[in-house]
Amino acid sequence: MRAYRAKVVEPIHLPDRDEREANIEEAGYNVFNLDSEDVFIDLLTDSGTGTMSDEQWAAMMRGDEAYAGSDSFKRLQESVADVMGFENIVPAHQGRGAENVLYGVLVSEGDYVPNNTHFDTTRAHVVNNGGQPVDCPVDVAPDDPFQGNLDPEKVRELADEVGAENIPALVVTITNNSMAGQPVSVQNLRDAREVADEIDATFVIDACRFAENAYFVQQREAEFEGSSVAAIAREELSYADAIVMSGKKDALSNIGGFVGVRDDELFEHAKQRGILYEGFSTYGGLSGRDLEAMAVGLREAVTQPYIESRVEQVAELGDLLLDADVPIYAPTGGHAVYVKAEEFLPNIPREQFPGQVLVGELYREGGVRAVELGEFAFPGEDRPQLVRLCLPRRTYFREHLEHIAETFEKVGERRDELSGLEIVWEPPMEELRHFSAKLEPVE
Ligand SMILES: *Cc1c(COP(=O)(O)O)cnc(C)c1O
Repeated sequence: MRAYRAKVVEPIHLPDRDEREANIEEAGYNVFNLDSEDVFIDLLTDSGTGTMSDEQWAAMMRGDEAYAGSDSFKRLQESVADVMGFENIVPAHQGRGAENVLYGVLVSEGDYVPNNTHFDTTRAHVVNNGGQPVDCPVDVAPDDPFQGNLDPEKVRELADEVGAENIPALVVTITNNSMAGQPVSVQNLRDAREVADEIDATFVIDACRFAENAYFVQQREAEFEGSSVAAIAREELSYADAIVMSGKKDALSNIGGFVGVRDDELFEHAKQRGILYEGFSTYGGLSGRDLEAMAVGLREAVTQPYIESRVEQVAELGDLLLDADVPIYAPTGGHAVYVKAEEFLPNIPREQFPGQVLVGELYREGGVRAVELGEFAFPGEDRPQLVRLCLPRRTYFREHLEHIAETFEKVGERRDELSGLEIVWEPPMEELRHFSAKLEPVE
């Protein structure tokens, strides 16, 4: 059951079929090129696309826009201390700004940085500072309740191989975004803390989805049955020396981010780098009202009614899709449902982008915008052809989820008539091609 009701609404509109056909063709079969007003249900990302509460909007009116020493910053500081247990924070314009601040201070040329799985911006910031990102996920069993965990043995092996002195930081990303948003157990965070101590590395938690992770811990980790999500959230983060946060995720805001650190010297370094890249250390590239929205959003994120409806809505979409015979990655994670496009459209070969074909058809059939994470987004990588359906927070209702499932059914009925796609234009950097490349159906 949704634990909220609408007080402000935004009209959405399903263009008629002819318009949708024309729109997707004009977009070069790439949904990044669609205008949002032409999209009926937007599942492209849950980053900064959610709905703020009345309390967040009210707090924004109190935004103190002073360049230095703003009251809004103090309220954010208090909120982070209460909810996440970090007293020292450096604000940043969003998560990747926070990553630039922290990894720029921690990582240098020739270093190695292990992570359960690097999120793409994290990977880029490690590389940008001359480091080598190394993924150390557990080898998952299908019934494992914590498929996002780090494998501490892989970190020990890496340290033996490259020398512990070349590993400045160990990162654990909760939930594990690049592993379908799967959770990490508190026990795994304790194990990670232990390895970090053994190799004398700074233990960083990428906390962007810390509240979603805490909810999974409450549901699945025996020790925490009956604990509040707020208490689990603090416990999770208590093991870390530093955290990186995107306000666009579990601070329930449209923009913002910050770094949290315990060590005073590291704090000073991060603050200086923050001033250079983000802005003075009491605003970090944000307006006072953005700081206010995060301060309130963080507190809301760890309330049971909110987090339960958030994570359970993702599971609900997963169930509707399973009922419609759509192959999905199960169990669902914290923020999105991942569809196995190769199984759904078995006639389309990988070189003809089955995921991107499905994404185009979801728009054509139901005005639904999803995103491909397969051969089109990651050329030449041997990975499953997935389509991600991200649910923005507190935004859509049951009818919308039903519409999504019906759209899949309609696409499924026409699966034998669908043709593959080929790229007809792409930008110079292959890593960025899925944002702007244009495609056409194969003859
Ligand atoms: C979104 C995200 C980031 C980057 O945050 P932005 O606000 O998009 O810059 C980093 N790590 C994880 C796990 C994320 O989900």
